Amino acid sequence: MAKLKVGVLGATGMVGQNYVRLLENHPWFEVSFVAASEKSAGKKYADSVAGRWHMPTGIPNAVQGLMVEDANKVDKAVGRCDFVFSAMEMDKQVVRDLENEYAAAGIPVLSNSSAHRWTEDVPMIIPEINPQHLDIIPVQKKNHGWKKGFVVVKPNCSLQSYLTPVYALIKAGYDVDRMILTTLQAVSGAGYPGVASLDIVDNIIPYIGGEEEKSEKEPLKILGRIEGGKFVNSDSIRISAHCNRVPVVDGHTACVSVGFSGRKPALEEVLRIWREFRALPQELDLPSAPKQPIIYLPEANRPQPRKDRDADKAMAVSIGRLRQCNVFDIRFVGLSHNTVRGAAGGGILNAELAYKKKLL
Ligand code: NAP
Repeated sequence: MAKLKVGVLGATGMVGQNYVRLLENHPWFEVSFVAASEKSAGKKYADSVAGRWHMPTGIPNAVQGLMVEDANKVDKAVGRCDFVFSAMEMDKQVVRDLENEYAAAGIPVLSNSSAHRWTEDVPMIIPEINPQHLDIIPVQKKNHGWKKGFVVVKPNCSLQSYLTPVYALIKAGYDVDRMILTTLQAVSGAGYPGVASLDIVDNIIPYIGGEEEKSEKEPLKILGRIEGGKFVNSDSIRISAHCNRVPVVDGHTACVSVGFSGRKPALEEVLRIWREFRALPQELDLPSAPKQPIIYLPEANRPQPRKDRDADKAMAVSIGRLRQCNVFDIRFVGLSHNTVRGAAGGGILNAELAYKKKLL
């Protein structure tokens, strides 16, 4: 089978580098096009990331010599890629317009940007939770008159650490109605060069602009439904979030308290639900899907970013410290890899799902 040709917009950044790394030897997709800002355009990819390649493995041979294009020039991508991953750091309105331009040019866009997350006909997907939201794509195409192109986004990078385990309880029939979460977010979440070392070494910063709003609102769209050709948010959960930047390179942690409105599961039942949780990516055996999406670690001092962020290709959520909550009902600690599961790996899993659904 010929592989689909893939473009990476923002290929020189933290998330873009992860796309380039993770797509090496992908069974269905191959990187054929890399693009970034005007200042990187015209250079060979290896030269454009010289001195700022942060991946644990070398630059894939097949990408090293690709010429970086200016991502703002959509015509450069036409005929060179079947779809693109979008991971650019720029003004949100500019990103929205640009992603629409790619879609209008017949190139589907799988985006990591927050730009389109609240566009009413754009699905925000975690494949284990709401794969059915891809059903809005025909409506989106019709709304714009797009024939082949469309836009799909993934949520903020911290959600993956806590939403899948909470969703597993909802799927098992328990009514979660409130959550308080405190995130401890890695510096790679701020891109490169990101947070200044003098701000973050030996320190914690109790503020990440816009992050608490995303943590509180995005789950409501993901847990919502399609009605009349647009998304209607879930109104059953209230979430209160504290988001902190901590001196960890990769891996977002979340300390979570959960309350139920009806019957409450025993702790053993919660563990069973998490252990047995499987979803569409596992049923379809998607190449990037973790075999076990939620891994419970019984040790009292886990999960830890350094030890647990790479669990199952860095695509699983590691959970620990499940116990009764004195104020709500249960509490636990979740961890996921922010630039893999929370960014490039999550984007690739979205593309694999879209491919299996014959959208690509
Ligand atoms: P980053 O390391 O700062 O990289 C930004 C990328 O955007 C670079 O490739 C850069 O190209 C490109 N870019 C900047 N200005 C541009 C312009 N005017 N036109 C075209 N390309 C431009 O950022 P990042 O962490 O990879 O994040 C990228 C996106 O993913 C952001 O929207 C971010 O919110 C989102 N995201 C990040 C994470 C994470 O954990 N880091 C997780 C989820 C989502 P040059 O190198 O040429 O400047």
